[in-house]
This record gives sequence, C-alpha cells and structure tokens, in this order.
Amino acid sequence: MVHETPVKDGGYGHGGSGEMRVGFGYDVHAFAEGRRLVLGGVEIPFERGLLGHSDADVLLHAVCDALLGAAALGDIGRHFPDTDPRYKGISSLVILQQTIDLLQRESFRPVNIDSTLVLQKPRLSPYIPKMTDEIARIAGLPVSAVNVKATTTERLGFAGREEGVAAYAVVLIEKASE
Ligand code: MG
Repeated sequence: MVHETPVKDGGYGHGGSGEMRVGFGYDVHAFAEGRRLVLGGVEIPFERGLLGHSDADVLLHAVCDALLGAAALGDIGRHFPDTDPRYKGISSLVILQQTIDLLQRESFRPVNIDSTLVLQKPRLSPYIPKMTDEIARIAGLPVSAVNVKATTTERLGFAGREEGVAAYAVVLIEKASE
C-alpha cells in the first residue's frame, strides 16, 4: 500500500500537477561607454553601461534562459534574436514577460527564481530590492520566491577587470494540472 506524503509547497503549488522542472541560465555582456546600465529591470547610475541589442540586461537574460531551459523551449537567442529590429533597445522586462507567456502556453509557471550577478563595480546592494520587485512582478511571484545576489570575483577574470558583467540564474517551474 502506498502512503502519500502531504506536499509542503510553501503555498505556490496549489493546483499543480506535481511536474516540477529545474532550469539554468547564464549570460555575459561587455561594458561600453555611452550606454545605460540596466540590471534586473532597474537603471543604475554608473559611468558605463552594457553593450547589447536590447537594453543588455544580463540578469534578466539569464533568468529568461533559465525559464526557457526548464520548459525545454530552447534559449533566448531563438525566441528573441538580436538580428530582429523589434528587440533593438527594448526593455528586457518585455522579454521576460514574453518568456513567461511562452511558458504559460505550455501550462508552466515559475515557482521560484534565484540569481547571481558577477561584477566588480558598481555596488548593487541599494538596488537589489527593486530588482527583486521587478522580477517578481513580471513573473507573477511573491518577492519571497525571488532572489538576486551580487558578488565580485576578487578582481580576477573579465568581471574583475571591469570588462563586463556575468549573471547566473536557476529557476524551478511547475506544470499546472489539465
Ligand atoms: Mg544577453
């Protein structure tokens, strides 16, 4: 006889089929003069910004890749190609929204998101709560299910030399019951 153990889902899993998927995302953008620095949907005052076709929000790109990866929907480059003029200069919050929509079509929704920005400068701690708010708002999650961290590399490597910023993200997604 099989005994079912009650699932402690923290309140996010109601109505789900129980199918959970994990996804991982990674992205890098180079610093450039004359660009805005936008991380996690938040513009951060700094003397340089990140180079890219969109607003080059490396954190949101890693989160989108993690979400797409969890749903086995490929990657951000497939859905939002940097050759497409529709995405030129676009806010990556729009790309995140469209990524959530793509998952929704497959009956997936995020359960939680964790992420790490890797950069030497600037200090991000004052901006992290706002980044968390923005990601949670678009993902339809409580802020208690979204985490953004930042670390330096002790001046090692491209991030340590202030040549660019890297971001990592992991997500858990859940399939809604039919
Ligand atoms: Mg990118």
